[in-house]
Formats: sequence, structure tokens, C-alpha cells
Amino acid sequence: MSKRFRIMKLEDDKIKCVSCGGWAKPAKIRIDGLQIRGWQCECGEQILNSDDAEWLLLMNKTKKKAFTAKVSKVGNSYSVRLPKEIVDVLGLKEQLLRIEVGLHEIRLVA
Ligand SMILES: [Zn+2]
Repeated sequence: MSKRFRIMKLEDDKIKCVSCGGWAKPAKIRIDGLQIRGWQCECGEQILNSDDAEWLLLMNKTKKKAFTAKVSKVGNSYSVRLPKEIVDVLGLKEQLLRIEVGLHEIRLVA
């Protein structure tokens, strides 16, 4: 991240901009190809929601790591065990995921 951002915890509709003193409005802010909640001021100042900023850090850390998933036989079908880090960062629970099959790859889509 080359740009510097301010991080706020407030859930207010709009918040005071510390750069110009104007009002920053709620906005979706795009960083590293991901969209997170925050506020945007007319002066260009962007303020990030602290929970989303924390999630973005975790997501970027997770994307840099190589993970493996173990396939096991359970009765007549197979199960795939996902690393806890992935489950946590994606907020998965016991649920159905869509499976997309490609050449030498499968994608699990929440
Ligand atoms: Zn401003």
C-alpha cells in the first residue's frame, strides 16, 4: 500500500475530515482489488473502517501464503479440509459452497 489512509471505528453516517474540516461521506473504497467500507471527503481524504482495514490486512497476508487442502474419503463421498486461516478470513461457517471445475483446478465459491 503506497498511499496512507486514516482508520476510524465510527459507524456514523458522515464524519469530520481531519485534513480540511469538511464532512466525509460513507463510501466503498477500493484497495488492492478489494472493496472495503470507509468515508470519502471532497478534498480527496479517505478514511477506512477499522474492522474492514483489519480484514484487508489479514486477506493480503493470506493471499501471499501457499495452503494445502486435504481430501479424505467419508463414506461414499469425499470431504475437503480447509485451513482455519482461510475459513476465518472468508468468514465461512458450515455451509454449501459452489464448485467450479477447470483443467487441473477446482474453485470453491462462497
Ligand atoms: Zn477533507
